Amino acid sequence: MARYTGALCKKCRREGAKLFLKGERCNTGKCAIERRAYAPGQHGKNKVKLSEYGLQLRAKQKTKTYYRVSESQFRKYYEKAFASKGVTSEVLFQYLETRLDNVAYRMGIGSSRAEARQLVGYGMLEVNGRKVNIPSYIVKVGDVIKIREDKKENNAIKTALEKTASRNIPAWMEANKERTEVKILRLPAREEVDLDVQENLIIELYSKN
Ligand code: SF4
Repeated sequence: MARYTGALCKKCRREGAKLFLKGERCNTGKCAIERRAYAPGQHGKNKVKLSEYGLQLRAKQKTKTYYRVSESQFRKYYEKAFASKGVTSEVLFQYLETRLDNVAYRMGIGSSRAEARQLVGYGMLEVNGRKVNIPSYIVKVGDVIKIREDKKENNAIKTALEKTASRNIPAWMEANKERTEVKILRLPAREEVDLDVQENLIIELYSKN
């Protein structure tokens, strides 16, 4: 979802939830959701009853925005999840969570997913000893993701790690003490993903199209 340049906070207000798109600001009193917990626009305060399709669409948009992925990428993950042997909604979230930019974000490399994606793009990480600078790269169980040796002193990396020092590492990955390296222990379960969305609505939406 790379090209959106409008007010990111409006996206959160549209979904009525904090989607953590602006890094540190999201955890402060300056968060727009804390101050204006209603949809943007002239009629934002009016309660609107959404149709079934509207609910499905909002669930998809919310998830897509949270992970900052494009429509085409999101649909690709859905199709792969649908074709897999697992539960479609669970596998969909596993794809989203195991993108390298998300793993970087989870390990604290970036105060937002956008920042994590940028740092991945700059070639700060390696996977199993090989440099990978593709944010959409999908990591696998057993993979070791590390900040490259010559990037450990990089200012952007050091600052990101300092700012995210209190971020919890998910149980499906194991980090070293400095959080410069993580190992993927297993795939995440849906309930471990901290996004409040009814995933069945997303599946219903795509199954119709
Ligand atoms: Fe969303 Fe962050 Fe803006 Fe709050 S500050 S509305 S969480 S992007």
